Amino acid sequence: MDPTEHIINLDEIDHGIFRSLPFCHGYCVTCGLCSSSCPASGLDDFDPRKLVRMAGLGLKDELVNSKWPWVCTMCGKCEHVCPMGIHIPDLVRNIRGLRERDKVPGILQKGIEAAIKTGNNLGVPKEDFIFIAEDVADEIAEEPGFEGFKVPIDKKGANLLTTIHNKLVNTHTEDLKHWWKIFHAAKEDWTITSDNWEGTSWGLFTGDDESVKIMAGRIVEHMNRLEIKNLMWPE
Ligand code: SF4
Ligand code: SF4
Repeated sequence: MDPTEHIINLDEIDHGIFRSLPFCHGYCVTCGLCSSSCPASGLDDFDPRKLVRMAGLGLKDELVNSKWPWVCTMCGKCEHVCPMGIHIPDLVRNIRGLRERDKVPGILQKGIEAAIKTGNNLGVPKEDFIFIAEDVADEIAEEPGFEGFKVPIDKKGANLLTTIHNKLVNTHTEDLKHWWKIFHAAKEDWTITSDNWEGTSWGLFTGDDESVKIMAGRIVEHMNRLEIKNLMWPE
């Protein structure tokens, strides 16, 4: 092996590439506490300390094309123990955001594109969503103590708007019932919306700030249009 093969030319390092606050990876003292605390350490050889060092050395392409940023769960344990206060999950998210969108792993990018286009990650049409919501409400109404239960949709002036995780209208409708029965028992004045009801924003995980902004903006728009006072955004 050519011993010079892996030598990094310090003159060619782009130190600025990941250097936006608050992650300050340049302060890393290589203590390894992040690696010791990380639940994902060792998976696909992932090592947060090495990731921070690579960022410090400006190895942008190596990081962006690596599996490592996608192995991280973004749990935040590393930054909790880091003596230098380096925000590793923010750094990871920043690296993820630099990857070409068609190379984002798994279904995340597909879900984001569906959400931007249809208002939810699964692309459930509005009429299907309303049908499912009302069907779930009918099932609740059959239970003792919930007679006459209805799901409020697009209720103007409600006290509380709740967003919905897509899986709750797909495979986990029982979980919708738990929330809605609590609202009923608490005599809450609540509502859901018929459009753009998605509560998850997968751009948060893929470093896609633009999609996060769009998804959050839609919820703000609901709050303003329907004059709702409080938001419950469980995701
Ligand atoms: S805990 Fe902080 S200072 Fe220590 S190796 Fe990890 S990033 Fe560097
Ligand atoms: S945020 Fe990522 S790097 Fe940090 S401890 Fe959690 S999994 Fe490990």
